[in-house]
Amino acid sequence: MTTSQTSDAGTFETVNPATGQVIGLFPVAGPEQAAAAVSRAREASRWWAELGWRERRNRLLDWKAQVTRQLDELAILVHDETGKPADDARLEIVLAILHIDWAARHAHRVLGAHRVFSGVAALNLSATVEYQPLGVIGVIGPWNYPVLTPMGSIAYALAAGNAVIFKPSEFTPAVGEWLVASFAQTAGRGSPQPVLQLLTGDGRTGAALTTSGVDKVAFTGSAATARKVMAAAAERLTPVIAECGGKDALIVDADADLNAAADAAAWGGLSNAGQTCIGVERVYVADPVYETFLAKLTERVTALRPGSEAGASYGPMTMPSQIEVIRRHLTDAVARGGRALPSSLESVEDAIDGGYVRPVILTDVPEDAAAVREETFGPTITVRRVASLEEGIRLANASAYGLGASIFSGSRRRAVAAARALRTGAASVNSVVSFMLVPALPFGGVGESGFGRIHGADGLREFARAKSIASQWMKSPAPVTTFARTDKDVARTLGLVRFLHGRRRPRS
Ligand code: NAP
Repeated sequence: MTTSQTSDAGTFETVNPATGQVIGLFPVAGPEQAAAAVSRAREASRWWAELGWRERRNRLLDWKAQVTRQLDELAILVHDETGKPADDARLEIVLAILHIDWAARHAHRVLGAHRVFSGVAALNLSATVEYQPLGVIGVIGPWNYPVLTPMGSIAYALAAGNAVIFKPSEFTPAVGEWLVASFAQTAGRGSPQPVLQLLTGDGRTGAALTTSGVDKVAFTGSAATARKVMAAAAERLTPVIAECGGKDALIVDADADLNAAADAAAWGGLSNAGQTCIGVERVYVADPVYETFLAKLTERVTALRPGSEAGASYGPMTMPSQIEVIRRHLTDAVARGGRALPSSLESVEDAIDGGYVRPVILTDVPEDAAAVREETFGPTITVRRVASLEEGIRLANASAYGLGASIFSGSRRRAVAAARALRTGAASVNSVVSFMLVPALPFGGVGESGFGRIHGADGLREFARAKSIASQWMKSPAPVTTFARTDKDVARTLGLVRFLHGRRRPRS
């Protein structure tokens, strides 16, 4: 597959990580292409914004229907570029479809003009707030969920009335190209310029997009790159959303359903080869159930089989350089007294098989080890015994990251209280990554996991600016914002304020 984009910095190939087969050749766009894309997007954004809520909604729903009809075709492309099992790719696309649908159907309600009470002191004013599009949004995406993750910004930015320039990861440009072409055929039909554009390339392309004059950058990737994006964006005061990595914890209470918790830890930690920002990387288990839980988790993990054939549990590492990070974390953990399970693993090297990493459970790892503190992004989980749910919360919170978390407990009330106490943007109770299944729930992080929110009403508002309008419909009985005011006008206003706000409230 090739693309017609011209390039000023060469081309690059995208390769199937399982087979090494070249999937496509893409241009590396530089500052010139980024500037040209912004200029096209400006025109497109005006056209798109003027379509109005209903027409944009209908067009986005057309796009959604097209993606749904062609789900299998897109899934194969995701499988080819990332190596993940085709069914995992299908489920990823299903979630993206739900987001297009939610954003399209709720944009008007959330962002459209609505009246707010103007207050007793300003009854002569009618007050409305509405959320207007920012203009052109630059979306920079990662490779691990190349449809779902960028869609969390793309669908919401489009529904809010913006044009979007999408720079996919250099590992997944063909998926990005597919999405952009499918939008053009459906929602973008008739536009003088493309409303959703593709800009392929590597980090240099992302950097060029950041400084190209877009009105906001929606970045998803590592915290290290987010820092570079923010520094570059600061030059033009371009606002940034940063959706970064995580080190999510799963906490198992003493009365939890251990089968459900073990299933969740295995899936949450190891699906997609652990290459999930909200993947479970740390598990804290209450002392009385620690051994039973560990046995159940080990049994499940032992049955998993990485590979590229149908029926494999998960695929290869999409980004080969990640294997070095995993090797470093495993080696350090074992050197510091950690134990690697299943016990068939005799050394760290046994876990690494070419481009694949076998599942590894690490126990007895000190909390300051890299495997506990840094994002591993591989099919490994640390499991630690804790005295109580409270100690689990304390250790889970002792992380620079704060994206998601899970709590398993026999008491949903205790679990929800724990969810509140966790320093994360989201939490799942008696389930794992379940907050991702609800498009109305905002998604985003704390600390090194970033800031800003995608998804839900907050996700729509990220791509709009609030516009306040106060409109006088009758003369003020006590006009004070005029040089013609009288002492009586001021006294009347002060009297009203003293009456409304100066009295002691009866204690309730
Ligand atoms: P990354 O290396 O930080 O790259 C993210 C994106 O930024 C890629 O498109 C990358 O381009 C681009 N980029 C690189 N340098 C840039 C620069 N100087 N200016 C602008 N853009 C630049 O992350 P990744 O390896 O693709 O993704 C994995 C990370 O994403 C993990 O930390 C994961 O947890 C996180 N993630 C977070 C979420 C979330 O929603 N919070 C979701 C998924 C993943 P190239 O790839 O072409 O170099």
